[in-house]
Amino acid sequence: MAHLPDALLDGYRKFMSGRYSTEAGRYRSLAREGQAPDTMIIACCDSRAAPEAIFDAGPGELFVVRNVANLVPPYAPDGEFHSTSAALEFAVQSLKVKHIVVMGHGRCGGIRAALSPAAAPLSPGDFIGKWMSLVAPAAEAVAGNTMMTASERQTALERISIRYSLANLRSFPCVNILEGKGRLTLHGAWFDISTGELWVMNKDTGDFERPDVD
Ligand SMILES: [Zn+2]
Repeated sequence: MAHLPDALLDGYRKFMSGRYSTEAGRYRSLAREGQAPDTMIIACCDSRAAPEAIFDAGPGELFVVRNVANLVPPYAPDGEFHSTSAALEFAVQSLKVKHIVVMGHGRCGGIRAALSPAAAPLSPGDFIGKWMSLVAPAAEAVAGNTMMTASERQTALERISIRYSLANLRSFPCVNILEGKGRLTLHGAWFDISTGELWVMNKDTGDFERPDVD
């Protein structure tokens, strides 16, 4: 018997009578002509920080990769399995996106785990521990700062890790070359799920600022 959770089937019914029916033409032309999104977004798996919802994006507009804590690993052509690097390669080389946005968010569980590495792994594989070790040096530095409160440390590492991922993006030759030619622009953003505030990274200073959206 084919089955999905009722909530998913209910949602699908609403999608078909709502968004799909109003955008059927767009879906059909996307199917015929293929996708050509201008923007790739690297976001967290967190169910509260969905890029398509935050940016009110329709079909074909955003090429999204989501992973725990929206991290980009460094360029490592080592024959291992690199899902985020594969998505990046496709977005840059095939889709030729013009923008890549690394979007972090408040109350990120992955970042929280990185700040308290003493916690026991969730499974013997400790995949989260291994993945979050990408930001271990920064996590250790921030975790040891007793002048900051726990929530200040959390927000600090969420934002530091965005800058770290942007630096790793530039370690990919294709990204570095296209950025140098002015055909690709990198951005950092941080979304506060409790208030809906979006903060955007200033390219010159690395600080996060509220964009003028009114
Ligand atoms: Zn997260």
